[in-house]
Amino acid sequence: MEEKKRIVIIGGGLTGLTAAYYAQQEASANTEVLLVEASHRLGGKIETVNQNGFLIERGPDSYIARKESMTVLAKELGMEDQLVRNSATKSYVLVNKQLHPIPEGAVMGVPTEWRPFITSGLFSLPGKMRAAYDLFLPKTATGADISIGQFFRRRLGDEVVENLIEPLLSGIYAGKIDDISLQATFPQFMKMEERERSLIKGLNKTRANVPKNAPKKGQFLTFKNGLESFIDELSSRLKEESVYRRTKVVDLERMGQRYKLKLSNDETMEADAVISTLPQQALHTLFPTVTSLKEWKETPSGSVATVAMGFKAENVQVPFDGTGFVVSRKSDYSIKACTWTDKKWPHSTPEGHVMLRCFVGKPGHEAIVDLSDDQIQQAVLEDLKDILGIEAKPLFTNVTRWKKAMPQYQVGHKQKVQRLEAELKAKWPGVWITGSSFGGVGLPDCIDQGKKAALEAVNMVEE
Ligand code: FAD
Repeated sequence: MEEKKRIVIIGGGLTGLTAAYYAQQEASANTEVLLVEASHRLGGKIETVNQNGFLIERGPDSYIARKESMTVLAKELGMEDQLVRNSATKSYVLVNKQLHPIPEGAVMGVPTEWRPFITSGLFSLPGKMRAAYDLFLPKTATGADISIGQFFRRRLGDEVVENLIEPLLSGIYAGKIDDISLQATFPQFMKMEERERSLIKGLNKTRANVPKNAPKKGQFLTFKNGLESFIDELSSRLKEESVYRRTKVVDLERMGQRYKLKLSNDETMEADAVISTLPQQALHTLFPTVTSLKEWKETPSGSVATVAMGFKAENVQVPFDGTGFVVSRKSDYSIKACTWTDKKWPHSTPEGHVMLRCFVGKPGHEAIVDLSDDQIQQAVLEDLKDILGIEAKPLFTNVTRWKKAMPQYQVGHKQKVQRLEAELKAKWPGVWITGSSFGGVGLPDCIDQGKKAALEAVNMVEE
């Protein structure tokens, strides 16, 4: 009888669970798929808690609907009817102690409609004129990767970058805008410039197909019982005996065509294929001889804390309609973004209440994440008083620290990933290193990566 093959997936966050799900679906009865997770729970950064009737997301709260793989998987899991789209669509930027609506038609900060841009209080007249210069500027000469900051500063000027693009992006990508890779995060803008020269013209063209009076839809989706309900459903599809919780992979050794994994419970596990979905900083001890991982050692990861607060509605008036605001980096507030959760996701908050979820840990000011819960709460409340005039004490505060949890995609990121993949292919056949440190941080990106690695691994072991 043919010997059974085995695929081991390390890490039970979204990438690992997706890999395990698709590998179990694709593999024949002759291939066993196992998942090893260090923690007692699955989901990694996805964690939903229900506190006093409030549905609190401690990590991500939703995913961008345009990237379809998460919706596809939700349908496959029978969860389509549980998807919810964000209801309020307007959001704000805090500049000079004032909340300014993000101008209508701005795509990642690039203006596509003149009227809202010209009338916006976000930019000075010279700042607006500088942005319009994009219409005449030649293409950026180099085809090489550059930072988001460098690219947009050249096309639209410093003011649009600092008052709009930087605050919008710093919520998604940790790190400074002048360090983040354009190629790894928004390659479409690079391509657009290549094709159309002007970003404003290029975006106008792509938006020409959108009917002028089309109703505005929220761009994000989540699940009415929280993102963790998706994790629960996904993990329930895995064979129970295939999931090892509270078990850390501590060492990995190559043995000819196979691999031996040493586990924290002193047991070992052999595998024909290994898919690591760990954050990059956890890999150096696991793969000390993968030389291209050395250049990742210096790659920093950002730390943030999420601070969810519930209030009685009668005590808190948020006189703005929208999903929340992001804060310009020049301001001296501790919070870098705030979601008006009850407005963005009405299902999350009991009637007669308000929920705000703030992020602290601006690049360069991450020490706040190490303060006590009380100190963080205090700093957030001081900011909220100043910005929104909120003086009420919250009914509860839920602080979650995410230390070194936001991968920084620095200039040259894609090339580093390619070098790593090339080395794995040449010297470590049957090992995949994937997940949010590498091929995209968004939840649908994690699904894409987990699925791709799973299908390749099944193909390899069964060929
Ligand atoms: P992780 O979730 O980090 O999973 C890795 C797993 O590996 C963990 O469970 C860990 O315990 C386990 N592990 C570690 N070491 C070992 C070991 N040696 N052996 C075994 N297991 C191990 N994305 C969005 O699309 N929308 C959002 O709104 C959004 N908001 C975010 C807000 C915050 C505060 C953060 C931190 C991230 C946010 N993201 C968001 C990004 C997104 O949440 C992550 O990119 C994604 O969840 C990462 O999934 P992953 O499986 O790759 O990694």
